[in-house]
Amino acid sequence: MTNADWTERYAGALMNTFGPPKLVLTKGEGAHVWDADGRKYVDLLGGIAVNALGHAHPRLTAAVTDQLSTLGHISNFFASAPQIELAERLIALLVEGSHAEPVEARVFFTNSGAEANEAAFKLTRRTGRTKVVVTEGGFHGRTMGALALTSKLAYREPFEPLPGGVVFVPYGDVAALEAAVDDTTAAVLVEPIQGEAGVVVPPTDYLPSAQRIAHEHGALLWLDEIQTGVGRTGAWFAHQHPDLVSGRVVPDIVTLAKGLAGGIPIGACIATDGSGKLFDPGNHGTTFGGNPVAAAAALAVLNTIEDERLLEHVTQLGLRLREGLAADPRVTSVRGAGLLIGLDLVEPKAADVVVAAQDAGYIVNAPTPERIRLAPPLVLTDPDADGFLAAWPAILDAAGVAVSTSSTTVETP
Ligand SMILES: *Cc1c(COP(=O)(O)O)cnc(C)c1O
Repeated sequence: MTNADWTERYAGALMNTFGPPKLVLTKGEGAHVWDADGRKYVDLLGGIAVNALGHAHPRLTAAVTDQLSTLGHISNFFASAPQIELAERLIALLVEGSHAEPVEARVFFTNSGAEANEAAFKLTRRTGRTKVVVTEGGFHGRTMGALALTSKLAYREPFEPLPGGVVFVPYGDVAALEAAVDDTTAAVLVEPIQGEAGVVVPPTDYLPSAQRIAHEHGALLWLDEIQTGVGRTGAWFAHQHPDLVSGRVVPDIVTLAKGLAGGIPIGACIATDGSGKLFDPGNHGTTFGGNPVAAAAALAVLNTIEDERLLEHVTQLGLRLREGLAADPRVTSVRGAGLLIGLDLVEPKAADVVVAAQDAGYIVNAPTPERIRLAPPLVLTDPDADGFLAAWPAILDAAGVAVSTSSTTVETP
């Protein structure tokens, strides 16, 4: 069975929500994957910022196998040690990294990012207020509640009416937040870096200002770290990254998913202080959420990031990739932190660049027509990164991205 054979069967059996698959993959190891035709690729997308430890990492495989062969699923009528340990660990990372003084926090586990945001959205309703201020370009998931918080019209319009009370403001704009947030606002929801918009980084005073404005009005600051959390940017949470945020940010709610269990489905809604106690028994629920296997997988991811000093690795490798990518004059801007990297091309040929990169043996992503996003496994090696940088100019050539006349002008004395 080749890529083409499988792709034909896919079209006859799967709903057409994603368009035709780019490849049919058969195995992975580290930052490498192989397709059904036997071709090997360097995976610079990592399942969209999910495969933190790459593919088939021995510690993740062992944690999942051991837990599944001991106790796999129990429902939330019962509790398990991995679930409790993971909640305590996430609270410690959040509170120790963000807060000046110890505070209490509570976690609700889910199976995905959208569900973590649904939980948080429902939690904000328990404040007695219904207005949520969110940002243009923001992405928070595809379920009805998460979609109501997501700005892209093409995603929203076919499914209206969506839950109400959501007000959109331009991202990174403090004055717009000042104008929109009032005493009826339950929460201000922002991503520390907008991932799906193409890795858009706000000014470093944005999150501290969002916190000040929210708290002046008794509203909660809710950070969606589903894409940016768990070491992706070189800090445990992006809002703790000194290059991204000036001063201290103390969110009331943080949502996580994607990289948390390295590819085993999980999400988490973490809320500090009083907001962690807004749900009463019966207010929310899930059958799978916090399942022992997913929790054991997440603990293995957190332990491996720590033991293998991956935050340092991510920081160094990210810098090297951003500098290398920016060296080509057809790249007009490179953004991001750690291994969440976005770049703009001189012309809207990002889809062609994805194809050319794939032909050259690299998997990258085009979140918009002019932007390329990289979110590789945190275990990506230096040689793989260097190989990609060496191949990059030829990839742009193959995609037909022209050398910008404006950049050549800059070089003319
Ligand atoms: C991916 C993502 C989501 C949605 O997560 P799913 O697991 O796809 O439901 C929500 N918010 C952000 C910032 C994301 O990147």
